Amino acid sequence: MALIVQKYGGTSVADLDRIRNVARRVVKTFEQGNQVVVILSAMAGVTDRLIEMANNMSKNPDRRELDVLLATGEQTTAALLAMWLKSQGHPSKSLLGFQAEVKTDCAYGNARIMDVGAGQIKKLLEDNNIVVVAGFQGCDADGNITTLGRGGSDTSAVAIAAALRADRCEIYTDVDGIYTADPNVCASARKLDRISCEEMLEMASLGAKVLHLRSVEFALKHHVPVWVRSSFNEEEGTMLVNGEHDMEREVVSSVTYNKNEARITLKKVPDQPGIAAKIFGPISDSGINVDMIIQNTRAGGQTDLTFTVPKTEYARALEIERKVAEQIGAEAVYGDENIAKVSVIGVGMKSHSGVAAKMFSTLAAENINIIMISTSEIRISCVVEQKQAELAVRALHTAFGLDKEK
Ligand code: ASP
Ligand code: MG
Repeated sequence: MALIVQKYGGTSVADLDRIRNVARRVVKTFEQGNQVVVILSAMAGVTDRLIEMANNMSKNPDRRELDVLLATGEQTTAALLAMWLKSQGHPSKSLLGFQAEVKTDCAYGNARIMDVGAGQIKKLLEDNNIVVVAGFQGCDADGNITTLGRGGSDTSAVAIAAALRADRCEIYTDVDGIYTADPNVCASARKLDRISCEEMLEMASLGAKVLHLRSVEFALKHHVPVWVRSSFNEEEGTMLVNGEHDMEREVVSSVTYNKNEARITLKKVPDQPGIAAKIFGPISDSGINVDMIIQNTRAGGQTDLTFTVPKTEYARALEIERKVAEQIGAEAVYGDENIAKVSVIGVGMKSHSGVAAKMFSTLAAENINIIMISTSEIRISCVVEQKQAELAVRALHTAFGLDKEK
């Protein structure tokens, strides 16, 4: 007997028939003699609609009340699944985040899980129940309902699996697993049987939507065995591997792109101590995340500084920097929203050289101009013109030998 946590995403519970389909899969696992805890998302589109309603009610919806509202999406699916399971004669109970003892900090809309009690879940499992938990939500120390940020039910699942020391955590979605590139952009993309948590972490932080970033951090930290699979077929999916052993030894394992960033450049800023702090202090004070930063040297004690921010924060960041530029005496501030970040990722890079050179020559051969470059131990990213992103992904996918055999 194993303890299995299964998480079903929004498209897997998009309507009542799909919830019944989920129930069939859950019952099958249960009848094979396993203990099953199910974590659910809201029906696809529901969270968006709730946000729309809130924005209609108030220009700046109260964050606490917004979380109370958003949590209802997952409350609905959890109740419906448990209800259907019971009607079919399977003992089941639904739990909201607070009942499942998902304890978070008090950052409404983007709360972090501090601890999962799991006592109640364990008790219900011992009484032979299929336990259904509403994902995406928790509760802070004062008993307020919190939500974990968009896509956060993955993190609910992995955190609950960690607390229960589950034998496996299966994340069910509408794709077969993790791909070498977005199959919508790159027809020759392949599904990976395995991927290291490290690589997955890079992919998630680059904006690959398959897994919530923090769920991967939990998997890595607590050694939770995670599978990403489709709820629409019986394929094995992709397994997240903790550590590099056993990995397919390709130097690059995936190519990603992200069109959600914008670039801001401050021209001719004084080359003096304290200037970078003045430029980035106000940005960080207003809660804007900066991603890539490049500083050039120029002759004459001046330098250009370029960085990227999420597109949604572009206007705000530009306004802040216009003020900063005046204060520090920079010559000009300008920016560009039509950029994309294309990245190659692979743990194999740690022990292979020449990946960057190959990336640059591949882009050159396609006549794609590189606007910015950044690297980590297992990733190289280039900012390019947005309209060239897809071409860049396909060219890199081929160049690094990732295309599936025809
Ligand atoms: N329902 C939430 C969202 O749409 C959480 C999730 O699906 O993971 O972001
Ligand atoms: Mg998701």
